[in-house]
Amino acid sequence: MSDTTYLDWPFFEPRHRELASQLDAWCSAHLAHTAHDDDVDAACRTLVAQLGAAGWLRHAVGGTTHGGTHDVIDTRAICLIRETLARHDGLADFAFAMQGLGSGAISLHGTVAQREHYLTRVASGEAIAAFALSEPDAGSDVAAMQCAAHIEGDTVIIDGEKTWISNGGIADFYVVFARTGEAAGSRGISAFIIDADAAGLTIAERIDVIAPHPLARLRFDGCRVPLSARLGGAGEGFKVAMRTLDIFRTSVAAAALGFARRALDEALQRATTRPMFGGLLGDLQLTQARLAQMATTVDSAALLTYRAAWMRDGGKPVTREAAMAKLVATEGAQEVIDSAVQLLGGLGVTRGHIVEQLYREIRSLRIYEGATEVQQLIIGRDLLKAHGARAHG
Ligand SMILES: Cc1cc2nc3c(=O)[nH]c(=O)nc-3n(C[C@H](O)[C@H](O)[C@H](O)COP(=O)(O)OP(=O)(O)OC[C@H]3O[C@@H](n4cnc5c(N)ncnc54)[C@H](O)[C@@H]3O)c2cc1C
Repeated sequence: MSDTTYLDWPFFEPRHRELASQLDAWCSAHLAHTAHDDDVDAACRTLVAQLGAAGWLRHAVGGTTHGGTHDVIDTRAICLIRETLARHDGLADFAFAMQGLGSGAISLHGTVAQREHYLTRVASGEAIAAFALSEPDAGSDVAAMQCAAHIEGDTVIIDGEKTWISNGGIADFYVVFARTGEAAGSRGISAFIIDADAAGLTIAERIDVIAPHPLARLRFDGCRVPLSARLGGAGEGFKVAMRTLDIFRTSVAAAALGFARRALDEALQRATTRPMFGGLLGDLQLTQARLAQMATTVDSAALLTYRAAWMRDGGKPVTREAAMAKLVATEGAQEVIDSAVQLLGGLGVTRGHIVEQLYREIRSLRIYEGATEVQQLIIGRDLLKAHGARAHG
């Protein structure tokens, strides 16, 4: 049983507390932290359908007329949902997050026709979404993107590659960012919605990662889609991508927090039951020091995460705060989980044990949606900018 006293913090409204407690009960009844190693595609499809049928995916979509819970995505709600899902089942968190990230650009910039066609099905779990930005030579350096889109009349022709695409291979559609050349660098990119069955789009490679989930490299060979598939204006793709990531960056911190909380729960359970040296593991002061550090890291991450979510819901800019939350929550979760593995001894490294899974699951969160070093740069630059503004203003 997890400590839920943080829900009393002033960042939340009664509806958030209700949401967290209802979802926790639903997760206890429907999910289990299993490795899903046998058939991760099937497991992911099932989870999307389950989350959709139960109504949780409605929070991942903006716009009440197209299936969303609210007109604007409620950041605190998606953070609480990701934290809770991650505490129960990492793949369930992944399934929820990708429905949001994969359709976020449509929630923000879609035409009425695009919203009608895609969002309702994403919210119900009938359509699986994906977000295709990264390329083999353009990960952290997004502006180095090479995948290109040429417009001929009413048709867009796309050539190039995207890699590390979550839900690659099982998605029904991909929001793809490609170079359209209106200007140099990041201002010459546009976004397009490409259905998975579009001619010229193939899954070039399925990628197996440390904590399995559907992931692929996509290949576009003269892939043709109507110009009506463009999302946002010509040359606005970079802005569309950054605005989408901006909503979900804080929620990556929340997912890390969920993994860390679960690790702390497992460590406490072991410390209070493992007989050792005539007492229990938890009687040893070194254990108490380790648990204290773990709990303090969890609370620091939670404070930063929900501060950023609360500020964003209040309409404030959160560039620095979201970066701080992602940095501290993901790096801190890695340390907390490592401590749990240590406290569990041999059990902790046993394949399939919950903390062994958490140890693998947390690793990618320090890399994707802006690696730790990228978050450090964002925070550092923002600090200097704010200092400059104060000094000259
Ligand atoms: C599990 C997983 C799922 C993913 N899902 C998606 C997805 O759905 N859609 C999508 O588009 N992409 C996805 N990605 C890609 C992800 O966003 C990239 O991996 C990430 O942006 C890093 O890019 P890269 O892997 O090319 O590493 P690189 O860009 O080569 O960076 C390598 C390392 O360099 C360091 N670094 C980066 N910038 C700096 C700097 N300025 N100064 C110093 N060091 C720096 C960091 O430690 C970084 O990890 C996913 C990745 C993973 C691992």
